[in-house]
Amino acid sequence: MLVAPRVRKLLADNPGPYTGPGTNTYLVGERELVVIDPGPDSVEHIDRILTAVGELGARIALILVTHHHSDHLAGADRLRRRSGAPLAAHDGIRHIDRALTHGQRVPADGEWLEVIATPGHASTHLCFLDRPRELLFSGDHILGKGTAVVYPPDGDMQAYLDSLYLLRQYPIRRLLPGHWEPVEDGPAKIAEYIDHRLMREREVLAALHLGADTIEALVARIYPDLDPRLVGAAGGSVRAHLLKLEREGRVVQHGERWYLSDSERTRPCPL
Ligand SMILES: [Zn+2]
Repeated sequence: MLVAPRVRKLLADNPGPYTGPGTNTYLVGERELVVIDPGPDSVEHIDRILTAVGELGARIALILVTHHHSDHLAGADRLRRRSGAPLAAHDGIRHIDRALTHGQRVPADGEWLEVIATPGHASTHLCFLDRPRELLFSGDHILGKGTAVVYPPDGDMQAYLDSLYLLRQYPIRRLLPGHWEPVEDGPAKIAEYIDHRLMREREVLAALHLGADTIEALVARIYPDLDPRLVGAAGGSVRAHLLKLEREGRVVQHGERWYLSDSERTRPCPL
């Protein structure tokens, strides 16, 4: 399905609580294609990609992955073997052919995609910018729906927020995310994601003010109607906020318990 000029989206058959309808694979270009996120290691999905490429009378020139999570990367090796195209990604990912660095431009069928390092959801996370069209392939840094999981230690809340702030410096109009549908108003979504994380941080501080002192108690207070399948992710997110606040000297950890620091306790409750 064409979702932007020169960009086709294929949906992998891996729906779930973290993947939504499934992983999006993007084909960029008309003749010498770039494939972004081959998706899970599924014979059917790799067949689907190669069939779409064949129908265009095109070939795959390069495979990119946004980050190392298996719903994006696991199919890369199979696609590489069957297409002969090299795999390029963050150098924290093993067995790649080309390491990508922030600011680098990669060829995309006569045009370019610009690499933007966006750690936070994953330490290896990259977004890819089609600058002339103000189009960002946002991977799992920004999703079409809901929020991204930030699960320590590889997930890092300060890095995640910094990566959101960084994106505000780029010309971005639309987002093509790793899951769910395209986002038409990119700047509004980036602002919404920043506001959401800062609100959660205030909720964590407020819950600590009210005496919740374990991850479980904080999750129960902050996410009262949580889908049971997402309790683990919510706990990870709360831990990510706590680790950020600990680095800032605003909370302290004793064993499994978390407390406001002495200076933070004298401040008014943030909610
Ligand atoms: Zn994903």
